Amino acid sequence: MLYIVATPIGNLGDITLRAIEVLKDVDLIACEDTRHTKILLDHYKIQTSTTSFFQHNRFAKGEYLLSLLKQGKNIALVSDAGTPGILDPGVNLINLAIKNNIAVTVIPGPSAFINALVLSGKPSHEFFFAGFLPKKSGARRKKLDELKKFNSTVIFYESCHRILAALEDIKTVFGDREITLARELTKKFEEIKRGRPEDILKVFKQEKPRGEFVVVI
Ligand code: SAM
Repeated sequence: MLYIVATPIGNLGDITLRAIEVLKDVDLIACEDTRHTKILLDHYKIQTSTTSFFQHNRFAKGEYLLSLLKQGKNIALVSDAGTPGILDPGVNLINLAIKNNIAVTVIPGPSAFINALVLSGKPSHEFFFAGFLPKKSGARRKKLDELKKFNSTVIFYESCHRILAALEDIKTVFGDREITLARELTKKFEEIKRGRPEDILKVFKQEKPRGEFVVVI
């Protein structure tokens, strides 16, 4: 069985009893970054062996993990934060397992975009999760233009390095629309900013953006 195990997005307390049980019981834990996951495993005194499964070894390591699954081993897949398979290399292993008729199950838990969506208070009956927007302004504006046509809540992830440029583009494409920025969710310095892109840009003139953001339009 391949267990897709969601882990905390910041606060180590946000893990389910079943996730701890599975992480203790499996033969191997495939981690996006073994050093990062070690903090969680040490916290819960989980001694299961780990191996790395990340962007650059995903094909070779995927085949190796598949061979173990075929031998009947149980493997847990975890990412650095949140639900594996949501914007991380985990999706490759999940697909490989499915194509090879390996039993796959999920141990549910947090995902940053769902938590930002509910914290935004915006309509959630219909929403579009756009992942990371293009890095270059021209492509980003084009993408935002496409997203505007959905006429529903739009969510995406953005880093502190590009948030100002992204806000400028959101202002150009969406104008005065009220948006929500969520950062450090579940952590000590969790912060939610709500307002028009222009208002939030003004705030960022006083304080430097830090951390990783979820943007909800
Ligand atoms: N698998 C993850 C999930 O389920 O949310 C997403 C992985 S994606 C590579 C990482 C991005 O998620 C970050 O760049 C950031 O935008 C967002 N993110 C993760 N943890 C967050 C947190 N605690 N607060 C705000 N955003 C977060």
